[in-house]
Amino acid sequence: MGEFQIQQSFFDQYLGKLRHVAEIIDLAPEVVEILSKPKRTIIVSIPVRMDNGKTRVFTAYRVQFNDARGPMKGGFRYHPDVNLDEVKALAALMMLKTAVVNIPYGGSKGGVKCNPKEMSRRELEVLTREYAKALAPFIGPDIDIPAPDVNTDAQVMAWFLDEYNKVVGKVVPGVVTGKPLSIGGSGGRGEATGRGVFFIGLEAASKLNVSLKDARVSIQGFGNVAFNAAKFFYELGSKIVAVSNSKGGIYNPDGLNIYKVMEVKRKEGSVTKYSEAEIISREDPLTVDCDILIPAALEGQITEKNAGNVKAKMIIEGANGPTTPEADKILSEKGVFIVPDILANAGGVVVSYFEWVQNRMGYYWSEKEVDDKLKTIMVNAFNDVYEVSNKYNVDMRTGAYITSINRIVGAMKSLGWI
Ligand code: GLU
Repeated sequence: MGEFQIQQSFFDQYLGKLRHVAEIIDLAPEVVEILSKPKRTIIVSIPVRMDNGKTRVFTAYRVQFNDARGPMKGGFRYHPDVNLDEVKALAALMMLKTAVVNIPYGGSKGGVKCNPKEMSRRELEVLTREYAKALAPFIGPDIDIPAPDVNTDAQVMAWFLDEYNKVVGKVVPGVVTGKPLSIGGSGGRGEATGRGVFFIGLEAASKLNVSLKDARVSIQGFGNVAFNAAKFFYELGSKIVAVSNSKGGIYNPDGLNIYKVMEVKRKEGSVTKYSEAEIISREDPLTVDCDILIPAALEGQITEKNAGNVKAKMIIEGANGPTTPEADKILSEKGVFIVPDILANAGGVVVSYFEWVQNRMGYYWSEKEVDDKLKTIMVNAFNDVYEVSNKYNVDMRTGAYITSINRIVGAMKSLGWI
């Protein structure tokens, strides 16, 4: 179709996959319809008085996709590209993710269209507090529980919680996860997504009979997920050959010292200031020579344009939606083993679940207990999906969708929705 082909939106990609799976497992049309539409969509305009005295109005979203299996769960991001289609797609992926790892949640997601890199700490605090106020009537520990995502961290969760507490007139730590330890956060939550990616890597490597110790790993990104994943692979002895951030990437076939890279990024603002590596573009980590590729930045990175150049034999999706359907097809045909986002990066929401459980008990586990429980859930989920994929003779993404949609359908049947 050439240059006039219309790009599928992120949410359209989800719908396409849903229809594909609906055919394989023979889903009733009303099930497909329920899973095609969010339960509730909240869009608010948030005026913030900026440091220069002028007021700017930010558009913020929260999409609550489905709560058949439990209260809805999902992070919120701050990014200039945030839009309703993206938040809807990410909310649908959260619904699938919580089901794939079998934790008692539905799915949701939020986002504010803003550029946090150009905002002061005070401006971010005001924006976060206003967002919390706007969402307060629609969220809660039994309704919808936000958490960190791209460019939002434990501090943002703390501001969010403080404002929510003021609105409802009580202290409700379980309304948000990914909080600092000092106010009810869980040990191990900060590194949980990266740790989960690593557990998945171990499990996948043992199934495919490859050694992670000798593996060359390329990572797109160097945020929370990318850095922590890099750390666990590096500690095991794998070579981290490339990483990147929004300003560009770095490559060293002999391996990067990722702690030094982190130090440089902290001090100088970008991994590209690291001297012991070749500077490459932010897309190049996707196509450098390596054994394992971990896209851990944003969606829509591996496309029909670069998929043919991917050298990795295994892809572990640390980001949500990093591979377009066209790229997925090209990679499958090449025989690349892809562990999909909804399974590979579920470690974060799993430990969010542990945090919420601890908040409700008012009793806290050691970090070791959290890590062990995380491992059990990730390994079981990987094996569930692996089995289903073999049973239906489909790839791991399709297997993960089948596994989760069957669980969601089971809940919807019990509730009498269908
Ligand atoms: N934002 C993370 C994700 O995409 C974590 C969500 C959560 O902990 O609720 O899975």
